[in-house]
Amino acid sequence: MKNEYDIIVVGACTAGAYFARNMAEKGYSVLVLEKSAKEDVGKRLDIFHMDKQEMLSYSVPVPQPGDRDYYHSFEYSASRSALGNWEKRHEHTVLVLDLAGYIGRLADWAEQSGVEFSYESEFKDFLFDDEGKICGVKAVKDSAEVSVKARLVADCSGIGSSVRRKLPDLYGVENFKIDGKSKFYVICRYIHFADKEKNKVTHTISWPYYKVWLAPQQDSDGALLGVGANLSFDYAERSLENFLDTIGLDDYTVDYIQKGATPYRRPPYSFVADGYICMGDSACLTKPSNGEGVTAAWYLSKIAVDIVDKAMQDGKYPTREALWEINPLYQSTQGADFATLLAQLTGAVDCTKEENDYEFKKSIIFKDNLLNSKKSSKFADALSLAGGLLGGVLSSNISIATVKKLLHYSSIASKIKKHYRAYPANPEDFPQWEIKANELWGLAGTMADVLE
Ligand SMILES: Cc1cc2nc3c(=O)[nH]c(=O)nc-3n(C[C@H](O)[C@H](O)[C@H](O)COP(=O)(O)OP(=O)(O)OC[C@H]3O[C@@H](n4cnc5c(N)ncnc54)[C@H](O)[C@@H]3O)c2cc1C
Repeated sequence: MKNEYDIIVVGACTAGAYFARNMAEKGYSVLVLEKSAKEDVGKRLDIFHMDKQEMLSYSVPVPQPGDRDYYHSFEYSASRSALGNWEKRHEHTVLVLDLAGYIGRLADWAEQSGVEFSYESEFKDFLFDDEGKICGVKAVKDSAEVSVKARLVADCSGIGSSVRRKLPDLYGVENFKIDGKSKFYVICRYIHFADKEKNKVTHTISWPYYKVWLAPQQDSDGALLGVGANLSFDYAERSLENFLDTIGLDDYTVDYIQKGATPYRRPPYSFVADGYICMGDSACLTKPSNGEGVTAAWYLSKIAVDIVDKAMQDGKYPTREALWEINPLYQSTQGADFATLLAQLTGAVDCTKEENDYEFKKSIIFKDNLLNSKKSSKFADALSLAGGLLGGVLSSNISIATVKKLLHYSSIASKIKKHYRAYPANPEDFPQWEIKANELWGLAGTMADVLE
């Protein structure tokens, strides 16, 4: 490790390796600090799922059959109503990959462009210059404190947000903690059905009402039984019990269980400040519909690369103003879509199983190619199908209270979308925008509020 680089990235997982590689390709010297040992990075989960087309669109390495990090692929996912009916399909090629293996592949890919990785090196704090601007980091490596200078610190430190949380108040990016109520708790059971042939799981099937899914895992004779919930792991377990009582599954044995949490809250309004950018889970970049975060982070990163390059060319210091353009480009596109979905889903969860079944039947909320789509505008269109909802009320399949709730949240969601689409091009206009955004999120509430 040298004592100065152009860029220091904290976190060597999917968000960090991707940004590091792209900036090194632009000719910058990049150091990645990772607190874990190389062999432990990504070991928290055995498998993860990735949309192959999305991976190709980010020009990242795509594992092939026979590679150590490749298990299987499948061509569509399905979702069913709370009563197990009206299956909807989403056509896409999904790769079932080994998370740690794939992170290792991304690190090799980044190293090939000249990125330096320092494992077992923990970020502790920022270094500030005489004007109070970030100019590097203090870290601990082999029990010794080191100071390393850099013009930009890229925070890819995951859900713990250990870097963003060290920002001084009012530095330009919110330093909130992603607390208990702002998380989506996921429990993965690696199972084997007693009758393997009858219960072969070849693609993902989800029951959104319970946030339960069955998916292929590393052993093609087994399956992954997943459940997720806001609030707590206990709440997720109760949701699984509810699912098993209503839908039921054939006999199975559980080989082992893995648990984890993803951010479930609005991201910071700004991702950039003087000498600083945040991405990935630290910036709450997960799809509200399913908690997936890998490509959601790459989306912001891809926008950032050219703007960071422009801001740092010829030895320049990347100021908040020079990096600002990243905010409107992100917030008015994926940011607006995710924000809309986050607000809408809060209204969509609170209904009975029968109402959910009716919504599936009439494709009021749940349509083919909808649930895993990153395009929430279709979701907005579906939710605003007042005709469908009205039909449900008239035929006594949906209560007036449920319709009111759906329309209430849908209306707030569309205001949020409009507001994000109009994200200010200049930092001077941001304070006004922020006041209105706070008002709208106050009206939207949170999923945890609704469940409690
Ligand atoms: C059960 C579960 C299943 C999921 N499945 C999927 C899926 O199938 N597909 C998908 O797209 N997403 C999935 N996600 C979400 C996905 O895992 C995350 O969105 C993604 O891994 C976030 O990547 P990241 O690089 O931002 O953070 P992380 O992967 O959390 O990496 C952060 C890194 O920073 C390091 N770090 C933290 N603090 C410091 C410090 N102070 N100094 C140095 N290093 C530090 C950490 O050790 C870690 O290696 C799942 C999440 C869970 C919980």
